[in-house]
Amino acid sequence: MIQREIGDDHVCVLTFDRPESGANVFDAATLRELDEHVDLIESDASLRGLTIRSAKKSIFIAGADLKTLLEQAQSGDLRAFIAKGQRIFDRISALKIPTVAAIHGACAGGGYEIALACDYRVASDDLTTRIGLPETTLGLIPAWGGCTRLPRLIGLERATEVILKGKLYSAQEALKLGLVDQIGSRDQLVDLAQKKLRDGKRMPSKMEWGAPATPATGSRELAPPRQSGNLAPARAREVIKRGLTTSIDESLALELNAIVELGRTESTQNLIRNFFLAEKYKKGTSKVSAEKVVHAAVIGAGVMGSGIAQWLSSRGVTVILRDISREQIDRGLAYIEKTYADAVKRGLTTEEKAKQGRARVVASTAPMELRDVQIVIEAASEKIDLKKEIFRDLSMKVGPKTIVATNTSALPVSELAAVTISPDRVIGLHFFNPVSRMKLVEVVVGKETSAATREVGLAFVRQVGKLPIVVRDSPGFLVNRVLFPYLLDAAELFEAGVDGQRIDNAIADWGMPMGPLRLIDEIGIDIAVDIATTLEKAYGRHDHAPAVLHWLRDGRMLGRKTGSGFYTYEGKTQTANESLIQWRRGLHGDPEGAAGPIIPLDRHRDPRLRLNEEDLAHRLLFLVVNEAARCLEEKIVEAPEDADYGMILGIGFAPFRGGPLRFADHFGVGKVVDEMNRLAQSDDKFTPCETLRKHVREGTKFYGD
Ligand code: NAD
Repeated sequence: MIQREIGDDHVCVLTFDRPESGANVFDAATLRELDEHVDLIESDASLRGLTIRSAKKSIFIAGADLKTLLEQAQSGDLRAFIAKGQRIFDRISALKIPTVAAIHGACAGGGYEIALACDYRVASDDLTTRIGLPETTLGLIPAWGGCTRLPRLIGLERATEVILKGKLYSAQEALKLGLVDQIGSRDQLVDLAQKKLRDGKRMPSKMEWGAPATPATGSRELAPPRQSGNLAPARAREVIKRGLTTSIDESLALELNAIVELGRTESTQNLIRNFFLAEKYKKGTSKVSAEKVVHAAVIGAGVMGSGIAQWLSSRGVTVILRDISREQIDRGLAYIEKTYADAVKRGLTTEEKAKQGRARVVASTAPMELRDVQIVIEAASEKIDLKKEIFRDLSMKVGPKTIVATNTSALPVSELAAVTISPDRVIGLHFFNPVSRMKLVEVVVGKETSAATREVGLAFVRQVGKLPIVVRDSPGFLVNRVLFPYLLDAAELFEAGVDGQRIDNAIADWGMPMGPLRLIDEIGIDIAVDIATTLEKAYGRHDHAPAVLHWLRDGRMLGRKTGSGFYTYEGKTQTANESLIQWRRGLHGDPEGAAGPIIPLDRHRDPRLRLNEEDLAHRLLFLVVNEAARCLEEKIVEAPEDADYGMILGIGFAPFRGGPLRFADHFGVGKVVDEMNRLAQSDDKFTPCETLRKHVREGTKFYGD
């Protein structure tokens, strides 16, 4: 795993190169090997310096092996593994010779902590170089010295930010933050490292010498994110702060205790499992290698079409972008321009690459030659007749092998396929908004979609760096189908008189990125009503859009995009929409009652007005669980993890809960069913589906582990 070479200059170079793998990680065997190398380095008095590097193309060291971490977290053996890593890194930091990490490629978690144990860190300015400590995003904390050494290196405030955000930074950003000392091109890396070694041991700053350092007073406190279920950010913050006022050894002990405790929690184990799911969906199972797509077309230059065109072009695909409206084309191109400019600003791409990307999009209102494109993605307005017209037309214009895809949110793909001459080449590719941030694509397999088309679709989604889940064609596919009963019940609760902010807070406190009413505002009231109408036709009452949504839509209060919906938006502030509350008062024929506070809550006739926060959250979430279970029952998705991962990626379903079905397992399927049965007495949309009841009858769960 690690080669040791000693040059004529008496510098020892440790090169990480895990056999038969593109990545370097720390597992038990690698730690053992590193331990032996450090023994030899410590005992070789002729050495003048140590360089740590990697032989991999795009990875320095990706961190601790998460499989080992999860297994040990589950079996309770995490302490020994972490303590061993701490000891080895500590010995590296105590070496008498100067040490440097020469970083090229991904340098994350333990990979950066070994670099922190060195005197110096130099990095290549290559785009593959991404440096940081993402542990808190996995429910862990940097416990191989990260929480101890980083604050001593760059200060409390910055270190807290780096560790709590868990972001990976480009070389330029890392340099600015002080995560590395110097950057240069990849071929300069060896020289840079050697120069650093010639500077000799780095003089530790006051903060670093283990001497208790008092955190700067008045420093800005970075609040841990709201997601209460992931305990790691708050725990990391505590360790960093306390660790800085104590010795290195004591701080390392704090790290160790914290990570062991976190490892025992369900939320941390879920976050690590999510990581493996991402890997699984990234790789797929296909053995056939599909032809790479280099030429695509996108029909419709609205929000989604321009987002998709930008994304594809950034991934090397040339794109014809077509719309019937000149104005929309201009708006779409401006959006593409801005997305590229932002990516350059954030160091995610270079100016040169952005320029090449922009040049790959050719936009027009005129019909264009489409015979040579390998895939067309239709992203025109969500109207079945309009889409049918487009599909009929496309089917005559594309080449004999072109795949024709739709980005529809809820319309039946098979119905669109039926108007074409090759329905076997029609598929749904449902990207999410905003395309540049959302990783999920639902790959919708229609009745006549061929196996070959499905494979090309999947390969294409992976080629452009998104994560596909395969879903069977049915209204709303997976994500919208599971989401809508929950959104619509929240709207009904609001209509009944429950305070909107209370509903949203109950859900945000449970761990969702935002509450359901706010999410409806983000989606757009008009779009939400359209989707609900399609879903209600297929699934009935639990997808009924209540009057409040129609009232908002008719009043052109369409949510965030028009500045008001359930809330009124001004800049970054969000307040209750007063006109909506007035309307609600009128609706109840009670000028005061429905607003809540005037009549004490326990005297309201509608029991929904007396729900506490937990009841509110559970009622809404059980609808998500039920619909996800039903999608499994109807084979819309094949496995529980498809439903779970789809919801985590599609709507940000509290990742530390592991998805709706994993949550049901942990909460207890029996309890979910009992509570749903109770709710079903007043509203049958809560009737638990057969799969849930079967699990209760047979004493089984969604997951066997
Ligand atoms: P949008 O209204 O922003 O854009 C639709 C575009 O289609 C408009 O620019 C319109 O001029 C154009 N158009 C209409 N008829 C056309 C034709 N015959 N040929 C070419 N262009 C035509 O809509 P959007 O939000 O980008 O949604 C597009 C599709 O993506 C819809 O099917 C929608 O359901 C789906 N979708 C939307 C979202 C979202 O959050 N907005 C998310 C996922 C999927």
